[in-house]
Amino acid sequence: MQKDKALDRWNIDKSAELYGIHDWGAGYFDISSKGEVVVVPPFGDTRVTVSLMDVVSGIRDRGMDMPVLLRFENLLDAQIRNLNESFHRSIKRNEYRGEYRGVFPIKVNQQQQVIEEIARFGERYSHGFEAGSKAELIAALAMVNEKDSLVICNGYKDEEFIDLGLNAIKMGHKCFFVLEMPGELALIIERANKLKVRPLIGVRLKLSSRANGHWTDSGGDRSIFGLTTTQLIDVVDTLKKNDLLDCLKLLHYHLGSQIPNIRDIRSAVVEACRYYVDLVKEGAPMGYMDMGGGLAVDYDGSQTNFVHSRNYTLDEYTTDIIEVIKGVLDEDDIPHPTVVTESGRALVAYHSVLLFNILDVNRFEPLALPDRVPPDSNEFMLNLQEVLDSLSMKNLQECYNDALYYREEIRELFKHGTIALRERSLGENLFLKIMREINRLAKKTKKAPADLEDLQVALSDIYYCNFSVFQSLPDAWAIDQIFPIIPLHRLKEEPTREGILADITCDCDGKIDRFVDIHDVKLTLPLHDPKENEEYYLGVFLVGAYQETLGDLHNLLGDTNVVSIRIHESGQYDFVREIEGDSIADVLSYVEYNPKELQALFRAKAERAVRSGLITATERKRIVNNYEESLRGYTYYER
Ligand code: PLP
Repeated sequence: MQKDKALDRWNIDKSAELYGIHDWGAGYFDISSKGEVVVVPPFGDTRVTVSLMDVVSGIRDRGMDMPVLLRFENLLDAQIRNLNESFHRSIKRNEYRGEYRGVFPIKVNQQQQVIEEIARFGERYSHGFEAGSKAELIAALAMVNEKDSLVICNGYKDEEFIDLGLNAIKMGHKCFFVLEMPGELALIIERANKLKVRPLIGVRLKLSSRANGHWTDSGGDRSIFGLTTTQLIDVVDTLKKNDLLDCLKLLHYHLGSQIPNIRDIRSAVVEACRYYVDLVKEGAPMGYMDMGGGLAVDYDGSQTNFVHSRNYTLDEYTTDIIEVIKGVLDEDDIPHPTVVTESGRALVAYHSVLLFNILDVNRFEPLALPDRVPPDSNEFMLNLQEVLDSLSMKNLQECYNDALYYREEIRELFKHGTIALRERSLGENLFLKIMREINRLAKKTKKAPADLEDLQVALSDIYYCNFSVFQSLPDAWAIDQIFPIIPLHRLKEEPTREGILADITCDCDGKIDRFVDIHDVKLTLPLHDPKENEEYYLGVFLVGAYQETLGDLHNLLGDTNVVSIRIHESGQYDFVREIEGDSIADVLSYVEYNPKELQALFRAKAERAVRSGLITATERKRIVNNYEESLRGYTYYER
């Protein structure tokens, strides 16, 4: 009866608001009437939804275990379309006489499946690639289909890197070398002369404009890459001297990733335009202006200039860029360049979700407490009981202080051997009961004492999750990146618990204790009480950018299983690609073990155990089988 009432009061709209899915979901995610998270691929007026719980059960039916990185190809395509079409609209609206060419920076997600899909779908927009290393250039050159698509080479370039690019130019590709350092130019000139190719040259600027956010240091005078004004003039003079000034066609800068404030974006474009104008006046043909990355993702849905958000829409971003370039260049009658951006995060973040199950919950709740402590208990225990009895809205802070004091005294008594383990346990339980009661009452007051504000966090549950933060969400660990996290089901029910998430590494940093909130950052996540014999699934959303390859093998937890789906307008969907995650043998070989050698060593060890009578030959067979099967198995917790 009680339970039904709770169900009545709670509904999916409340869950949607609580988890902010309509704020950060960009229209791609919603909650179904069944209380399950659904993906909503954009099909114009046709609303199609696919439940992530259905996908999870399809994944399970195919024999794959959690955790799984789920990719939606439709969302990747949609983001490529949105970016290109937004630029096209801004160009048209502003009567800008240049084009837009996007390039995807491979570093943001190097996975072949992702790059292939960007090349395939991006072809209609001549969307190219940005490569920051030889390996990335090799991938880009094989994948890029369209001769009009650009290949932009950033990063430090050796002879081999340069030859790869020059050969691509020979084959008709628009492959630009962006000078990050003045020293690169001599080698480019030497190789270009040797291979008899006119190189396409760009220069990366060190703008004085800087952006707020995590990557502030990517811009400004002390940024690692880019040319100072003096170096830029030197490059122009060297090109002139070598009769190559006509090869200088592109100007590039990168303020940093995830720029939350549109003002920073505008002011950088203004500054870059001044350089562009003067390079044209110096006699360089130019023609391309490459604004790098930085287009932010609104991870918390707050639409503010908070580091995990952005205070602009995509249309505002593209309009501002086009308007500013046109405005500045028109003053000097300079032809409008092709606008290039290297948006990575904004293109790929939405299309991946990390799915995982909860393995266990540690609750900070009193266990097995008698109604009252025995009357012959020690003085501090009796005092704790008294605190509990006297607790009211009016004396929360006082009771809190007293309870802390008495608990400390009980711990001291235990340390000195005055009380036994059971008595200390009773004291700890009583203390917890008092704290939970204080927390309950504090929530009802308009202004709880400051000390009590942290109580909810201190009393929150720990949900043990089947994934590794270090492998799947490295930015959550390294730079406190916040990702939206939501249960995939049971959203018709009120989440009655508050928890933080711990992963299955045995590292105290392997946790998530910062969650999205429209006004702030939440320190606990509302969660449901897991039911016995029923898996409880959560999803971490917007993880398509940077997370996959930055992850590491902490505790030898390897790559997760990956599944890509494509949804059709009919609502049917196909599992288009799947990649089995690393096996234990795989991860061991990454750290130089030879799995065959390990097997041989273990077999020999088992044989010695037979010889010394510890196990029988039949037991040896079972033990060796178990070892060898484990080597082939998944690195995560398997049910
Ligand atoms: N271009 C360059 C040179 C970068 O270093 C980066 C990453 O920081 C990007 C583009 C991608 O930036 P974002 O993912 O913010 O679009």
